[in-house]
Amino acid sequence: MLDALLFASAVNRAATKNQSSLAGKQASRVATDVRHQTEYIKSDVEKLFMITEALWTILKEQHGYTEDDLIARVEAIDMRDGVLDGRVAKSAVKPDCPECGRKLMGRRPVCLYCGTEVILDPFSR
Ligand SMILES: [Zn+2]
Repeated sequence: MLDALLFASAVNRAATKNQSSLAGKQASRVATDVRHQTEYIKSDVEKLFMITEALWTILKEQHGYTEDDLIARVEAIDMRDGVLDGRVAKSAVKPDCPECGRKLMGRRPVCLYCGTEVILDPFSR
């Protein structure tokens, strides 16, 4: 997200210098689009933080999980790719269709070969 903000800022500066040219106006529009997209993403991230905190509060209060439980689980997820880097690796293996056994294409919830609706892991990337 920081990259997008830096990009928008750089494009904005370039656009300001060339306001009268067509390229300057286009650059200004691109900068505005990037700024708006960044605002949407920031808003989504903020909502996700609130939802995550709400869910975590429920788990702590109603099921007795501790901060150590959460930290251990986060580290286990992070380490799925063997690297503790604060990121979730994309799954390299596409799942198979439970009906015909062929590989599912992309993130489609329907098998292209047999039409079976498949429930994908909502956290797969
Ligand atoms: Zn299938």
